[in-house]
Amino acid sequence: HLSQRLLRVASYVPEDARLADIGSDHAYLPAYLGLNNQLAFAIAGEVVEGPYQNAVNEIKKEGLNNLIKVRHADGLAAINIEDNINVITICGMGGPLISEILEEGQLKLANHPLLILQPNVGEKQVRNWLLTNSYRIIAEEILSEDHHIYEIIVAKYDKNAFELSAEDLEFGPFLRQQKNEVFVAKWQEELQKIKYVLEEMKKAREFPIAQEQKMLAKIKRIEGILDD
Ligand code: SAM
Repeated sequence: HLSQRLLRVASYVPEDARLADIGSDHAYLPAYLGLNNQLAFAIAGEVVEGPYQNAVNEIKKEGLNNLIKVRHADGLAAINIEDNINVITICGMGGPLISEILEEGQLKLANHPLLILQPNVGEKQVRNWLLTNSYRIIAEEILSEDHHIYEIIVAKYDKNAFELSAEDLEFGPFLRQQKNEVFVAKWQEELQKIKYVLEEMKKAREFPIAQEQKMLAKIKRIEGILDD
């Protein structure tokens, strides 16, 4: 019963991975990979008690206790260096939280694991963190499920210098090139939202000029990408 979203995330996890799934909730992602013999070892990390219990129950129910360790921990504190983790998945959270978890867990990234991230919002912040920390984006995907649009960002450590333009950071280096139906729908929706807020602001007696200019600039950037 894995969602299409997590199935697509799973497709980027290499064979025989030593995986840490952070913010695992029911641990559906590592459980699926374990049942399909795609894991050498995994950690399901959860900071909240209820979701942690969900993960414990799921792993026990599926008989995966030897393969997948459920740990009650904040962010990358779930990982010990001896675990030799080579893939980290962080899915179903906002981009700012994902970036914060990576930033605070820097020490646990010493072996440069592959990062597979699925922010629900704030993708730009995630791409910014990756750029600043020498993680090169190697794949991106955008998909729609249950009236939500999700992005998946896969990044690999690369000590060579590389760049991302402002457009790459905001729209995604691969996504903006592919520009598929879902991408267009996402940014058209965003455009409508900003235009609506702008109209409402204009109706109000006072509105901050700086705010308006910021929104007009964003409209221009989105229209630029859509018309490109
Ligand atoms: N990863 C699953 C998925 O994509 O379906 C579950 C997503 S769920 C919406 C987000 C989970 O992240 C929640 O269970 C929450 O408790 C957990 N979480 C939030 N902040 C966390 C942190 N700092 N460390 C570990 N887990 C965290």
